[in-house]
Amino acid sequence: MSLDGTYDAGNIFAKILRGEMPAAKVYEDDHVLAFMDVFPQSKGHTLVIPKHSTARNFLDEAPEVVGPLMLGVQRVARAVRAALTPDGLVITQFNGAPAGQTVFHLHFHIIPRWEGVALGRHAEGMADAAELKELAAQIAAKIS
Ligand code: AMP
Repeated sequence: MSLDGTYDAGNIFAKILRGEMPAAKVYEDDHVLAFMDVFPQSKGHTLVIPKHSTARNFLDEAPEVVGPLMLGVQRVARAVRAALTPDGLVITQFNGAPAGQTVFHLHFHIIPRWEGVALGRHAEGMADAAELKELAAQIAAKIS
């Protein structure tokens, strides 16, 4: 899918928001939901999505949603750092399939990195659900 198109309310993140699909939830407020990526590129790979949005990508998003969304990304990234003490953190976001986007509800990736540990491949290799739940709890405990 290209940058243009209509929002599909049947996408997986919309289903998570509606409670139709499970997720290892980390944080939720009026504006954002954060949960563990099920195909993590590193331990603690977390996603942050806007809750009230039909934006497929960042370019589509309403300006008034961007501020609270980015505050949520920063809050969760700080908690990931506090919980897992990585050496670095990648915060990234893809727009359009050619850029690597596979789910068309706007989302940000928070990917902790450790010296000497290679990054896993994008959207490959499903994590153990119990491990994700435990990581989500560790990160949630550090939200401030
Ligand atoms: P992107 O490729 O930027 O669209 O990212 C979509 C991300 O969603 C990928 O990293 C996938 O691993 C992740 N993902 C896909 N399905 C789920 C799901 N049900 N729960 C959590 N993460 C998911």
